[in-house]
Amino acid sequence: MYGYTGKILRVNLTKLKVAEEELSEEILKLYIGGKGLGAKILYDEVEPNIDPLSPENKLIFSVGPVNGTNIPLSSRYCVTFKSPLTGGYAESLSGGHFPPRIKWAGYDAIIIEGRSEKPVYLWIDDDKVEIKDASHLWGRDTFETEDMIKEELGDTKNIKVACIGPAGENLVRYACICNDYWRQAGRCGAGAVMGSKKLKAIAIRGTKEVELADVDAYRELIKEIMKKVKEDPLTSEAYPKRGTPGMVISANTMGFFPTRHWHKGVFEKYEEFIPDTLWKRLWTKSKGCYACPSPCGKLGEIKEGPYAGLKIEGPEYETIFSFAGLCEIDKLEDLVKINDLCDRLGMDTISAGNVVAFAMEAYETGKLKTSFPIRFGDSEVVIKLLEMIAKRQDVGDLLAEGVKRISEKLGLEGKAIHVKGLEPAGYDPRALRSMALAFAVSTRGACHLRACAYALDISGKVDRFSESLDRVALIKDWEDRFAVMDSMVLCRFGRTIYDWDMLTKIYNTITGLNISVEELKKAGERIITLARMFNVREGFTRKEDTLPPRFFKEPLENGPAKGQIVTRERFEKLLDKYYKLRGWDAEGKPLPEKLSELKITE
Ligand code: SF4
Repeated sequence: MYGYTGKILRVNLTKLKVAEEELSEEILKLYIGGKGLGAKILYDEVEPNIDPLSPENKLIFSVGPVNGTNIPLSSRYCVTFKSPLTGGYAESLSGGHFPPRIKWAGYDAIIIEGRSEKPVYLWIDDDKVEIKDASHLWGRDTFETEDMIKEELGDTKNIKVACIGPAGENLVRYACICNDYWRQAGRCGAGAVMGSKKLKAIAIRGTKEVELADVDAYRELIKEIMKKVKEDPLTSEAYPKRGTPGMVISANTMGFFPTRHWHKGVFEKYEEFIPDTLWKRLWTKSKGCYACPSPCGKLGEIKEGPYAGLKIEGPEYETIFSFAGLCEIDKLEDLVKINDLCDRLGMDTISAGNVVAFAMEAYETGKLKTSFPIRFGDSEVVIKLLEMIAKRQDVGDLLAEGVKRISEKLGLEGKAIHVKGLEPAGYDPRALRSMALAFAVSTRGACHLRACAYALDISGKVDRFSESLDRVALIKDWEDRFAVMDSMVLCRFGRTIYDWDMLTKIYNTITGLNISVEELKKAGERIITLARMFNVREGFTRKEDTLPPRFFKEPLENGPAKGQIVTRERFEKLLDKYYKLRGWDAEGKPLPEKLSELKITE
């Protein structure tokens, strides 16, 4: 097989055994790799209704045909699992320099199953695979863990590490997996699943080359893509120069920047976090993942004050929204410290910021009692809470459960902001109505990336203040295409250069499997539908495809979108049309004829 290794590494932590298995060309053609392959393995191997933090759950690390090549923006891996936050299907992706190593070591996927009695880490050195003791690493933060593993394995250059921090060890439901210090598979609690298996880290050194079906065509293709990268305003300008914080300006000028725990749409102090300020006070240079000519990462160092000398890659837009916006932290250096703490503890900044902001609102209303005040804008309290959450100390034990479970405990369900248990990213759907549908139907909960529907609203292609039905087909098409990108696996920031034709050309040039654009589109639909079927099997229905009550009832309090709410009746019509286009029934269950058309037959 070209582009693929055709091999899976299965690691059983209960038996402390590893084994290699073959992958069939048929499965790879139908599910592509990455997300698609992860969804297929999860659906086939994880029984319904298991506890996501039990040994029965699996963590599936997977890559696709482009990974390990020099196709631009191709350094990604996907990890698929049953989420301890949502109880449903979840996958999370990360970049950096770790992902191509999975392929170079000789694998399309690594399945982690069972649970070790003692902390361990996995050491993959091409064909040599070892499960090693990690007792001395347990309790260490993610940066220390990476450094210690590389040091003890004697190669700080070629070994790359993905690991968890104390949050993952202590089963914080929104713990993430970190690699290359600042890159995270952030969402849905992959780090907690890894912690439940007592797996501290995976270290990989890989030296094998990816075999290509047509080397000459591949070289020409890279030139063609590079031309597109240079001409496209997002990949040539926006990401390399401004990174994701460029979005802080659009979000505040358009009024969709979630502020004061989703009450407002504009943060008065937002200029503290725009790229100009970051270049002046923090950033020193851009940094990219492997094989990326559009480096969106920004390295920086705090120059003065109590945190002087602290080095970071970031902060990203999502961290700025979740702590500056939602918690009203108004000083850049404080936000960077908070970001650094989340990275070291191994916590998803989107969920963590939502949780802390929810705690602030709950404290204000008198529903959450604590031994110290928890007020908006207090960075010291945020730092204290994050440490308590990671260790599950005192109130941190409750806050480690995520907004949905906290709200149920406090009787604050009506004030909780989540979809299916996942806290949302920084796009208020009251000011971006395409996001209302995208948040509601995303299989993993309130995710901004599965459809990137905010781009439709921001571009003006659709009316962002109405629930017009013209957006539904576009959202479906984007979901399908992005499912293919997440399966090949390509970075989402290449979405403007990787259209259906280009994706098909890349796939065929690398694999030689010569599939048509239509077949690739079907693969996207198949992957989305199979993930949906996982949730259907877990008991999810139309009821879960909804938004928090606040978005339907409480108007935004400031900014250009002041007074806006999502209209429930029209939202339901969006949902009806979406289900119809997908070939699902009125409850959101895929119809038998659609499953058979997509060859989901088991
Ligand atoms: S655009 Fe950013 S996240 Fe994507 S591959 Fe490049 S550096 Fe990595």
